[in-house]
Amino acid sequence: MRTALVSGASRGIGRACARALAESGYRVVVNYRERRQAAEDLAYSIGGTAVRADVSDREAVRRMFEAAGNVDALVVNAGVALQKLFTDTTPEDWRRVFAVNVDGAYNLIQAALPHMIHEKWGRIVLISSVWGVHGASCEAAYSASKAALIGLTKALAKELGPSGITVNCVAPGVIDTDMNAALDRETLASLADSTPLCRLGAPEDVASLIRYLCSDEAAFITAQVIGADGGFGV
Ligand code: NAP
Repeated sequence: MRTALVSGASRGIGRACARALAESGYRVVVNYRERRQAAEDLAYSIGGTAVRADVSDREAVRRMFEAAGNVDALVVNAGVALQKLFTDTTPEDWRRVFAVNVDGAYNLIQAALPHMIHEKWGRIVLISSVWGVHGASCEAAYSASKAALIGLTKALAKELGPSGITVNCVAPGVIDTDMNAALDRETLASLADSTPLCRLGAPEDVASLIRYLCSDEAAFITAQVIGADGGFGV
């Protein structure tokens, strides 16, 4: 049985993704940072394992992989947002966003690769954002960190293709999760109005694409940035 590790799977998109991958036959490692009970309940319900690690902490990620065992599919999902004017963004804000969103990807992928390269098979999916493609006002740090994941995807796809590993990027639009909980009703309604499919996305809308990219069926798909955004990015 293949193993998938989903970072930031205690809620939101990661949680839906862990469920979808378990349904498709993966043993799933549910990574979390703070919400232990939620992660353990989810892991129990899908027959997986919950493992705590702050993805920005390289040593913690190393220990998580030691506990998790070999990982065949990695979903780099854990992320933090920041809504602030660029001029108000402090060096600490900037470093925190990059530490989780970009250093986290580096830590996770480096830890996962030795097994994938040995097996000459692997699936890596990085979760970027429409803002990583188009940029968002008052979200410069977040947009820049998500754009970095797109460059990382394309470079790694070239480097790892000969080892039988696909690397793809999913760019969600506005998805109804805690990450957008601070937005008021009017803002959410206006974001739904700006979406050709006239609604916000559900975590499952993103998870089904990730499940496909982690499957054998997606064997010839690599280096892609694919929107799961209801057309929002057009
Ligand atoms: P969310 O509801 O805020 O959940 C974030 C998840 O990431 C939680 O499971 C959290 O774990 C985990 N996490 C945060 N920091 C972590 C760290 N340092 N180490 C390990 N885990 C960490 O977010 P979401 O909306 O599902 O977003 C998931 C991904 O999709 C993110 O990368 C986000 O940028 C991207 N995205 C989201 C949207 C959207 O509209 N929601 C749009 C585009 C892209 P704990 O709860 O245990 O702390």
